[in-house]
Amino acid sequence: MRRLRQSELDFVEREFGSSLPLQRLRLSGGGQPTGRCAWQPFGALIQMDDKFFQACDPSHPLRVFAYPTLAHEALHVWQRIHGQCVVNVSVDGLFLGLTRGQRAYRYDVSDRDPRVMLRRFLAGNIEQQGQMFEDYIRSNIEDEASRDPSFQLIARYVRARTC
Ligand SMILES: [Zn+2]
Repeated sequence: MRRLRQSELDFVEREFGSSLPLQRLRLSGGGQPTGRCAWQPFGALIQMDDKFFQACDPSHPLRVFAYPTLAHEALHVWQRIHGQCVVNVSVDGLFLGLTRGQRAYRYDVSDRDPRVMLRRFLAGNIEQQGQMFEDYIRSNIEDEASRDPSFQLIARYVRARTC
């Protein structure tokens, strides 16, 4: 388990602004017990598969392709801090995984108006929220200006919270 490296901190700060306590975030390798590539087990810890790190070594910086997954897991930390979950991020996540599996992550994309997408985000479960934020980053990892505009208000909402 380690603190975030500067490149990772720069990414998280750019996407989350002051809505996350950057210095409390911790990253580790080892994947997730049931074989998913990442999870956010407790506190501000994010655990990811070793293949996401340069040289497959968790002491090295994350590869850029892993940033959308990092954003998804960091959003779970954000949910814990800002109370965006029914019971608790770990309990909710476990419950969703057991009862709905992959379906827990899906969300309606029939209307991509940014205001509709924000309403969907606010009404979504913790995995739908994580997936929406991940998809927003994935639409263009490095160039924010070129990202899918339907997620624009969600990104603004996430960043606007302060801790
Ligand atoms: Zn998740």
